[in-house]
Amino acid sequence: MKEIKPFASKIWLSSPTMHGEELKYMQEAYETNWMSTVGKNINEVERITAEKVGRKYCVGLSSGTAALHLAIKVCGEKLYGQPKVGHGALEGHKVFCSDMTFDATANPIAYEGGEAVFIDTEYDTWNMDPVALEKAFEIYPEVKLVVIAHLYGVPGKVDEIKAICDRHGALIVEDAAESLGATYKGIQTGMFGTVSILSANGNKIITGSSGGMLLTDDEEVMNKVKKWSTQSREDAPWYQHEELGYNYRMSNVIAGVIRGQLPYLEEHIAQKKAIFERYKAGLQGLPVRMNPFDEENSVPNYWLSCLIIDESAMCKQVRGEKEVLYISEPGKTCPTEILDALAKYNAEGRPIWKPMHMQPIYRMHPFITAQGNGRARTNAYIDEGAVADVGMDIFRRGLCLPSDNKMTAEQQDVVIEIIRGCFDE
Ligand SMILES: *Cc1c(COP(=O)(O)O)cnc(C)c1O
Repeated sequence: MKEIKPFASKIWLSSPTMHGEELKYMQEAYETNWMSTVGKNINEVERITAEKVGRKYCVGLSSGTAALHLAIKVCGEKLYGQPKVGHGALEGHKVFCSDMTFDATANPIAYEGGEAVFIDTEYDTWNMDPVALEKAFEIYPEVKLVVIAHLYGVPGKVDEIKAICDRHGALIVEDAAESLGATYKGIQTGMFGTVSILSANGNKIITGSSGGMLLTDDEEVMNKVKKWSTQSREDAPWYQHEELGYNYRMSNVIAGVIRGQLPYLEEHIAQKKAIFERYKAGLQGLPVRMNPFDEENSVPNYWLSCLIIDESAMCKQVRGEKEVLYISEPGKTCPTEILDALAKYNAEGRPIWKPMHMQPIYRMHPFITAQGNGRARTNAYIDEGAVADVGMDIFRRGLCLPSDNKMTAEQQDVVIEIIRGCFDE
């Protein structure tokens, strides 16, 4: 490999990109003293987001996680009724959930006392496998709620999953935290759940520094979520409470940042797409593939560019609970070696989100693959050549590449050269 100098300033995985209008709206909030959880910025974020996605109602909340919590809770109450205080809405109930996702997708099921049953991933879009979902309904026909995510901004197999859920009378909570702006058959993600959510966390395609949005077409759901998010105050002269409350409402200052970012969503997507295409072209000829999507039916938002290494080009890599070792081999590599190389030159990549069924916190939960019940899983299986399921395999062979929209083409060419160097003979 020819001499490469480390980047003078770090190349990030995905960092906030501001444009100026954010400051204007924050300042407006400041100068008019709407510094709380009420104000024009919140109203505008809700209006513009609902319109952009195509949903009737949007509720601005403090985070995507808060939005998921209330989405899952409201579905739980729809299905099983209002729980007693101190009890969750899903107690005694199983919920099907995407397995290869960020843990914020799954945790709110536990907040409400439910048990997540993790559904394995498919190779076509790296999202929930409809075949495994159908298997899960065979094993647990009583389940009435399914939580799906669109990983890295790539829409999952929406039609297949919706058809299965309809057939079994199950509601869907759609986690579109990573996929704002992505479409499936021309329809925006965020349209496919009974309740759907978005995130405006610092590393997402647009950001408020934090923040989340809940989307629904159901007026009752919208009203309930709004009420719960502001401590469940009843319409009375004093603080009157009939239900459990939360402090989950979006701040009008944060909303100012999101409001300033929303007009730049399409520009960010175009930049992310260019990054994806540049990797795809630049890595051609290597035994790797970019993260796939359904080119006929879906348009991702290209939030993160990822790659997966062919099995034949994997060197030995052994992951323990928190540490990893690998053995370099000429012509071969592994995600760890590539991540190490990137870090050496001051660029940030990341392993694929470690599947939920492999996480210590969820290891005892049921896990369903296309073959049925997933077999017992221990770290021994993460070893080379002992792959039990799709999620584990993608985690083992895949990684997220630096995907920051402020990375220049020249910088990206260097990143590509660093990756190519890992496959040198
Ligand atoms: C970021 C993210 C969330 C959580 O959103 P926050 O706004 O950070 O709380 C949930 N699900 C997925 C898939 C995410 O990537």
